[in-house]
Amino acid sequence: MPADPSDLSGLRAAVAALPGYVAGRRATAATTAPLASNESHEPPLPGVVEAIGAAGARANRYPDMGTVELRSAIARRLGVSASQIAVGAGSVAVLGQLVSATCDAGDEVVMAWRSFEAYPILTTLAGAVAVRVPLLPDESHDLEAMLAAVTERTRLVLLCTPNNPTGVPLTTDQIRGFLARLGPDVIVGVDEAYLEYSGDPLGGSGLALVAADPRVCLLRTFSKAWGLAGLRVGYAVATEPLAEGLRRTAIPFGVSAVAQAAALAALLQEEEVLRRAAAVAAERERVLQHARQFGWRLPASAANFVWIRLEGPGFEALMEAFDEADILVRGYPGDGIRISLADPISNDRVLAVLESAAALAR
Ligand SMILES: *Cc1c(COP(=O)(O)O)cnc(C)c1O
Repeated sequence: MPADPSDLSGLRAAVAALPGYVAGRRATAATTAPLASNESHEPPLPGVVEAIGAAGARANRYPDMGTVELRSAIARRLGVSASQIAVGAGSVAVLGQLVSATCDAGDEVVMAWRSFEAYPILTTLAGAVAVRVPLLPDESHDLEAMLAAVTERTRLVLLCTPNNPTGVPLTTDQIRGFLARLGPDVIVGVDEAYLEYSGDPLGGSGLALVAADPRVCLLRTFSKAWGLAGLRVGYAVATEPLAEGLRRTAIPFGVSAVAQAAALAALLQEEEVLRRAAAVAAERERVLQHARQFGWRLPASAANFVWIRLEGPGFEALMEAFDEADILVRGYPGDGIRISLADPISNDRVLAVLESAAALAR
């Protein structure tokens, strides 16, 4: 038995060096305000539970490996061809497909930091190198510095809009300007996990980017506004050859039949999705306004969460205040706290904590 887990025999160095999974406080059915994972707080969309039951009755059969029906339904909705869609077990899996489709060992993936934690992990697992470019003081991507970080080893750039965990979006013009100055062989993954909460809930501007530039790969998910986080379905929209590359790197049968059926049922509920997302976006503005009145400085958010940068001792104190109020939020030690938005009652409880802990904001 190795004395030090980093000596675990047989593991690749990249895997041995990854931090182990640390069990934190997890939301359970009893958690009164689970605001740490940016899920939808509403129950599954109408028709989804029934579709899950019907698909479950055929659980002895393999799912459709080509996810043909789901890809066609997504493509119809977006006005693209089904061959431009690749589906995976959550957009995290699709991201993994994107990295393995584009990067050889030692290649570089440029990303903002702090951004989505899965980016450096998936990059490292592929044997590639994560190049983290610090955010600007206004919590947005530093696109100048990201361009400067691109080398001849860079195969992929990841843009997260709105950025998790800061909530700050990139504009289409910013992305276009970035693409105009980027080399021809670098793929740009545009992660739109929170699209439905943004100012462009149908995502037309992202689709226009794909139509105009073969380097763009949109990443979208059913986990957030579409309310299927527990079932794991995400997809990419890209050129046909790039989408085909992602399909080749997918784990066979990775998206279960139950998940495919649920996503198909959810797609029939687009109006309800947009209605729910708009309600959360309205709550977001109310929360931001009140929190700022209490003295907190929060960046404008285009997502279903808000971000409080807290680097000093205030961090632990505010995490404790949330804990005492039985509100589960996501802390990033050394950076800040991300709070998912939910129903008005939960949001009011968040505001009550922020009001009582307002001294920490100064
Ligand atoms: C939540 C999230 C996703 C979605 O992950 P799934 O694997 O689809 O559940 C993707 N990107 C970002 C930035 C996210 O925050």
